[in-house]
Amino acid sequence: MNLHEYQAKRLFADFGLPVPKSQLAGSVGEAVAAAEVLGGDRWVIKAQVHAGGRGKGGGVKLVDSFSALRDEAARLLGSRLVTPQTGAAGLPVRQVLIEQPTGIARELYLSVLIDRQAEQLAFLASDAGGMDIEAVAASEPERIIRVRTNTAAGLQAFQCRYVGFRLGLRGQQLRQLQQIMFALQRLFLDSDASLIEINPLVVTSDGDLLALDAKLNLDDNALYRHADLAALRDIAQEDAREAAAAEHQLNYIALDGDIGCMVNGAGLAMATMDLVKLHGGEPANFLDVGGGATAERVAEAFKLILSDTKVKAVLVNIFGGIVRCDLIAEGIIQAVKETRIAVPVVVRLEGTHAEQGLALLNDSGLDLLTEQDLDSAAGQVVCAARGEPV
Ligand code: GDP
Ligand code: MN
Repeated sequence: MNLHEYQAKRLFADFGLPVPKSQLAGSVGEAVAAAEVLGGDRWVIKAQVHAGGRGKGGGVKLVDSFSALRDEAARLLGSRLVTPQTGAAGLPVRQVLIEQPTGIARELYLSVLIDRQAEQLAFLASDAGGMDIEAVAASEPERIIRVRTNTAAGLQAFQCRYVGFRLGLRGQQLRQLQQIMFALQRLFLDSDASLIEINPLVVTSDGDLLALDAKLNLDDNALYRHADLAALRDIAQEDAREAAAAEHQLNYIALDGDIGCMVNGAGLAMATMDLVKLHGGEPANFLDVGGGATAERVAEAFKLILSDTKVKAVLVNIFGGIVRCDLIAEGIIQAVKETRIAVPVVVRLEGTHAEQGLALLNDSGLDLLTEQDLDSAAGQVVCAARGEPV
């Protein structure tokens, strides 16, 4: 799960990381009020969306009057911001962050993430922070500094000094970097994050380090123990179909093909997609309805698959291990009736009560193709999607 910049910056402040003074605004009036609270006569206005590259997309603007602030707030709020990271449709801007401007001497990069191969936390830093860090990583990898922390001992002061020297920091800045890196480690572990990124971490014109941007990704599998963080979710920023899937505990990933797949179990879903491809078809999605598939979930899964207008045929592949195939068959019948499916549906059932399940489907009077063998089911659905007789 992603957080907004303003949410991440509040967590930063809670953990003692230096951030500029800012105020959140959801309307032009609130933006003006925020600027009055902050004082001064110049402000930075920043669109709050779950994507980087906002600077390049016109989502970060320096304004030097109340009227310019009003204009920018009116332009951004209610719009969809397109950045190099969003895709053509962009993401909705419902809030802007009004920030005190910072005089910038240097823009650095600092992040912490999990190095899965080393099974350790890794800090990445660069003296080439700002908006093009991805390009730097690709073309000048030697400018990316990496330190890994020992899992038992954690981050060490000497590692912070090493990073600081390589970044060209001195004196007070080295102490500030050390505090920032230790605070990042605490925040990372406390929140079960998967990535925290500060880009840019600036050296201000006064020579202090300051986090000008904040990105924080949380590990979804650990969200259950962070009710406060889970409450920060902003569904409006997420892919509508994937959000609907998550709501019903379905693991759904949209793909480019035209054969909708509904399967119980991630491994079986992979095998099903492989067989569809082997028969010359292209899956429209990966969808795992989970081990405890219920009639309601099967119905939701059908709705999800069919909301994709590319789908020309559907393959249902259920292995009844714990779940009973006759119950699943009832769910399928209910779902097909409710969603008025207009494309061919091939159902393969195997396992506990498979015979009863297939009998129920065949007696339902619905236009379903039933199969017990997975290979022939995959072959049938590929033909059906092509409009060939099966
Ligand atoms: P991103 O493009 O989505 O990563 O948004 P950032 O928050 O990183 O902002 C992009 C760029 O805007 C930064 O690299 C800075 O150069 C600039 N910027 C952001 N905030 C300020 C600020 O307070 N003062 C000044 N002068 N520039 C800023
Ligand atoms: Mn940034």
